[in-house]
Amino acid sequence: MEKILSVENLHVSFYSDGGEIAAVRGVSFDVNKGETLAIVGESGSGKSVTAKTLMKLLPKQNSIIKQGDVKYGGKNLVQLTNRDMEKLRGSEISMVFQDPMTSLNPTMTIGKQVMEGLKRHRTMSKKTAYTRTVELLELVGIPDPGERINQYPHQFSGGMRQRVVIAMALACNPKMLIADEPTTALDVTIQAQILELMKELQKKFQTAIILITHDLGVVANMAQRVAVMYAGEIMESGTLDEIFYQPKHPYTWGLLSSMPKLHADRSLPLTPIPGTPPDLSHLPEGCPFAPRCQYALKVCHQYEPGKTKVSTTHTVSCWLEDERAPKVKKPEGIGG
Ligand code: SF4
Ligand code: MG
Repeated sequence: MEKILSVENLHVSFYSDGGEIAAVRGVSFDVNKGETLAIVGESGSGKSVTAKTLMKLLPKQNSIIKQGDVKYGGKNLVQLTNRDMEKLRGSEISMVFQDPMTSLNPTMTIGKQVMEGLKRHRTMSKKTAYTRTVELLELVGIPDPGERINQYPHQFSGGMRQRVVIAMALACNPKMLIADEPTTALDVTIQAQILELMKELQKKFQTAIILITHDLGVVANMAQRVAVMYAGEIMESGTLDEIFYQPKHPYTWGLLSSMPKLHADRSLPLTPIPGTPPDLSHLPEGCPFAPRCQYALKVCHQYEPGKTKVSTTHTVSCWLEDERAPKVKKPEGIGG
């Protein structure tokens, strides 16, 4: 497997009147060519901040990368100037956000926007850019691209707009695509179509995808590897099978048991994890999940657990993995 991105011990904080908010605390992961890594967690877990850090899209006034490296193609993106980062953005690493309107300019035709991206990163004539834009729109399934190219974003449905954004993101064949909740705003049928499209394009171009989502159904459909984030940390990471069938972390158990099952009895209530994530400006002592964890031991409220390797691909941060801890079995009905 060819590793293309490597994030090492990333720490990101925000500053507000209330003090420092430690949004990302010691996050590390790799991404390989052509694979999808899903980063999952509740809102506020630090998923989007991590994604924005990779793209250097954090607000400058109140945020800081305190520590860590983001290695990509022999460079450390953390140290890159904005100008150099600008060159990478769109051409080698692209991003797709939840709301396509944040990426589209409402006053410009769709065609012009796709062409601008093309011309910014590739020297090509107007005619070539036009032809390529029509091809791209066709590729992402926009009907009558020759006509639609002259229309404005408001003339497109939400799903069609997201297709355009994907076309823009893929215009320069990036090596990596960061997709932050790319289908959350769309209805289920359109969501499935967009995910299918992303998979197809990934196969075709061997793009690596970092998929940020809170939806484990989307993860199961898309990812080969999964990182579970909570309170700014990766609590558990592993292959799709390891996370879905041999999950070790009580937070992962909670997420999995709150996932609606395809064939489940829909009259039964979902079981979301009781409680709320901690205030990142006042983290509890010990394991950040301890206040919500029904398996918490005394030590959990005092010291943060270290990382335990369950397999070469599976890592978990939980005191239950310590050999001195009482043996706890994952709840019935989760995994295999
Ligand atoms: Fe629960 Fe303790 Fe594991 Fe944290 S370390 S998830 S509190 S058992
Ligand atoms: Mg988010």
